[in-house]
Amino acid sequence: MAAPHPRLEIQHLTRRFEGKTVVDDVSLSIQPGHVTCLLGPSGCGKSTTLRMIAGVDMQDSGNIYVDGNLVCDTVFRIPPERRSIGLMFQDFALFPHLTVERNVAFGLNGTRSENRARVEQLLDRVGLLHFIDAYPHELSGGEQQRVALARALAPKPRVMLMDEPFSGLDNRLRDGIRDETLALLKEEGTSVLLVTHEPEEAMRMADEIALMREGRIVQRGAPYNIYNAPADKAAVAFFSDIN
Ligand code: ADP
Ligand code: MG
Repeated sequence: MAAPHPRLEIQHLTRRFEGKTVVDDVSLSIQPGHVTCLLGPSGCGKSTTLRMIAGVDMQDSGNIYVDGNLVCDTVFRIPPERRSIGLMFQDFALFPHLTVERNVAFGLNGTRSENRARVEQLLDRVGLLHFIDAYPHELSGGEQQRVALARALAPKPRVMLMDEPFSGLDNRLRDGIRDETLALLKEEGTSVLLVTHEPEEAMRMADEIALMREGRIVQRGAPYNIYNAPADKAAVAFFSDIN
């Protein structure tokens, strides 16, 4: 039997801004149900990579596939809303004028009762069913974050892209929300590309880490292997603040 396609595959993705190459020949693949962390210091090109996969920016060269189907190369481009890709960005706020129910149902196109059932299932799962008729401003930051996760997962995206989704949260809450988020992503079987500049977050959440520096992937592997055998001095230094 042929091996299944990776859920997400990017090949030789490159992006230049004003003559400077900020994403340089990046290739990655994510297996179904896996969480891959794109880890690297600020400015190394992580968000730019995610934006191209999401379809809100266009690469100068390279290809993007979901389930083995081409979604974008330099001439062919499926629009963002048809890529079956969910997004959770740092400042990806809820719609303030919509209730929690309508926020979570936003990307759904089933019948009213199907949508309602999916919204209730997810809100119940994140412990916020009692807020179904509330407005975002009535919720704490951590609660809004859980609703944003429910909203992103509601349409059952094939791939979820998360760009530093926990960085706006209070330290006290962060570990708990990371663990809950990971548990829910695993239950839903969602494949995830999570961007972070924090080694600790990648160690906690990733099945696989892709270490990025100056636009390139410099090392890939299981978290434990990368932590124990960083590829070079710069990687050692980058990891040295976790203990
Ligand atoms: P990261 O998410 O790893 O912090 P980014 O992908 O946001 O890094 O940025 C990588 C580099 O590309 C940075 O030097 C940034 O200034 C530059 N960059 C990002 N977007 C643009 C843009 N639209 N125009 C010009 N330069 C950009
Ligand atoms: Mg960024």
